[in-house]
Amino acid sequence: MPKFRERSTQPEWQCIPHPFTGYTAEERLIIYNGVNEMGKRMKGEINEMGKVAIYPGSFDPLTYGHIDIVERALDIFDNVILAIAHDAEKKSLFTVEERIKMAESIFKDTPRVIVDSFKGLLVNYVEKTNARVLLRGLRATSDFEYEFHMASMNRSLSPYLDTLFMMTSKDYFFVSSRTIKEVARLGGTVEGLVPDLVARRLKEKFKLPVGKKRLIGWED
Ligand code: ADP
Repeated sequence: MPKFRERSTQPEWQCIPHPFTGYTAEERLIIYNGVNEMGKRMKGEINEMGKVAIYPGSFDPLTYGHIDIVERALDIFDNVILAIAHDAEKKSLFTVEERIKMAESIFKDTPRVIVDSFKGLLVNYVEKTNARVLLRGLRATSDFEYEFHMASMNRSLSPYLDTLFMMTSKDYFFVSSRTIKEVARLGGTVEGLVPDLVARRLKEKFKLPVGKKRLIGWED
């Protein structure tokens, strides 16, 4: 007998089981409401995750500049989806799988950050989620033009989608994945600019001795 039958405060006739299903009118109502609720959730009418922002990018690799944006966004949003792009156009150093693994490990103690990846048009991916906000970081005026065009294009493709820009922190305004890769490739230290895990993976990629000094830095 289902648990909720004992708690019934309904008139007796409502407690008579249905001849075929065995459920009473009250139980049928509970089941109906549950199914209805599930249906609504499936249609995305109920957003269980609360306020969600999608932070899309290549994250090749993830830097403290990115992480700083995510941490600050968590003060505004309930959840941040770090959406790693499969971008056939851009030649990436790390595969999408490697980037996902690194990000998952870095955010393993932050359940409000969800690591995901997407292929193709960003707006198509966003439509599959309940998010209405894209998160992007701005470092310098040089970022602005590209970001402005992208945000305008995304809004024209999906009018309910807004892009929220966060200014970089003063400690990371000069940090970009591209310069991090360049410095690491030449054996320079990237300590303090990327998590240790990323620094180690960069050394492995560029076949630099892990835990040894080369040029400046590289101590584990
Ligand atoms: P993409 O490949 O889409 O240009 P990136 O992975 O390089 O993206 O970066 C994702 C987003 O994070 C972009 O909006 C970028 O401007 C922002 N970003 C990157 N580095 C920093 C940083 N140091 N401070 C603030 N925002 C940053």
